Amino acid sequence: MIQTPGGTWQRRFGDSLMGSLSTPKVMLERGEGCQVWDVDGKRYLDFLAGIAVNALGHAHPALVSAISEQAAKLVHVSNYFATEPQLALAERLKRITGAGDRGRVYFGNSGAEANEAAFKLARLNSDGGRRTRILALTNSFHGRTMGALALTGKAALREPFLPMVEGVEHIDSTIDALEYAMGDDVAALIVEPIKGEAGVLDLPHGYLELARELTEEHGALLILDEIQTGVGRTGSWFTFQQFDIVPDAITVAKGIAGGVPIGALVTFGDASDLFEAGQHGSTFGGNPLATAAADAVLAEIERSGLVLNALVRGDQIRAAVESMESPLVDEVRGRGLLIGIGLTQPVAAEVSARCLEAGLIVNAPNDSSIRIAPPLVVGDAEVDEFTAIFSTVLKGLS
Ligand SMILES: *Cc1c(COP(=O)(O)O)cnc(C)c1O
Repeated sequence: MIQTPGGTWQRRFGDSLMGSLSTPKVMLERGEGCQVWDVDGKRYLDFLAGIAVNALGHAHPALVSAISEQAAKLVHVSNYFATEPQLALAERLKRITGAGDRGRVYFGNSGAEANEAAFKLARLNSDGGRRTRILALTNSFHGRTMGALALTGKAALREPFLPMVEGVEHIDSTIDALEYAMGDDVAALIVEPIKGEAGVLDLPHGYLELARELTEEHGALLILDEIQTGVGRTGSWFTFQQFDIVPDAITVAKGIAGGVPIGALVTFGDASDLFEAGQHGSTFGGNPLATAAADAVLAEIERSGLVLNALVRGDQIRAAVESMESPLVDEVRGRGLLIGIGLTQPVAAEVSARCLEAGLIVNAPNDSSIRIAPPLVVGDAEVDEFTAIFSTVLKGLS
């Protein structure tokens, strides 16, 4: 542990950072590609990528130069002015989402803010006050701000902060629950195509297609939270593109700017007409620094074929984990490079701690799930290294 004038860094953390964060085990200093180094010089293979954020890995030259070049021109101008990076990114998002000419983009600064905008979009679909209900799923995660928290389907996260914003109902992630809950008084249904924070849980077969059918029939918006599943991670630009549906809106954040904070709401078709001038905004939202970073990340994903890489490497990792034939592995979930490993025993925290000790970063979103979300640039050598460490850790525990 590094000694500093203020004591160990862990004591400094506890003494100065808000108690809402627990003290980390490791302090990181730098990174390169899929590797990071801590302050003691120990190297780690990063198979979490800041929770599906560092799409290009660490210190990628395309991101480094986009940030530094833009920082030397303009970092911020306010929404009284337009900038080229903001327009270029919005246009690119319309293209890669397939929203096309009828698409519109709102920029905020985080996933939660993208979902706040989606929440307001849902309220605007009220049909003169007749649509009062917003449906979300139990066990879902949509962020920590009050609106996003109201959408989040984990009672333990909401409870200390009651009362919640009104009008949200949480339903089970089943076809039956969806059919039962849907009606003409529903303004929107918000769904993660794969529930990342819940442990990378897939939706039931046919769920998204039925959700599209029912929301359309009843005039409700279908809003997909693609904050964790988007930006190439699951093997297509956005996960909904692997299904035969077009949503009314998606929210995007995490991987889009490779770690620079930004979030976006992208609307499709008539949902693009709901907001009027002055109804929503953010001081930092759409600033030239963050939008230039995001545009560079998306351009690099496209140039280097990283969406396909996510698919190929994801299959490789999945096959490697399955071939370990560990009695601890119950199932392998998710798509592309968003992978959940369901364990047969509640030892996920121990698995993740032993991996960290052995120089591999993964995480345990709950007692019995391991989440793997490496940078989209991950290659053969890294998959091999992951396989070696992870299988050793599983053997040590079974
Ligand atoms: C991370 C996440 C959020 C919240 O994003 P923040 O940037 O932390 O506010 C919302 N929805 C999903 C699905 C997420 O994974």
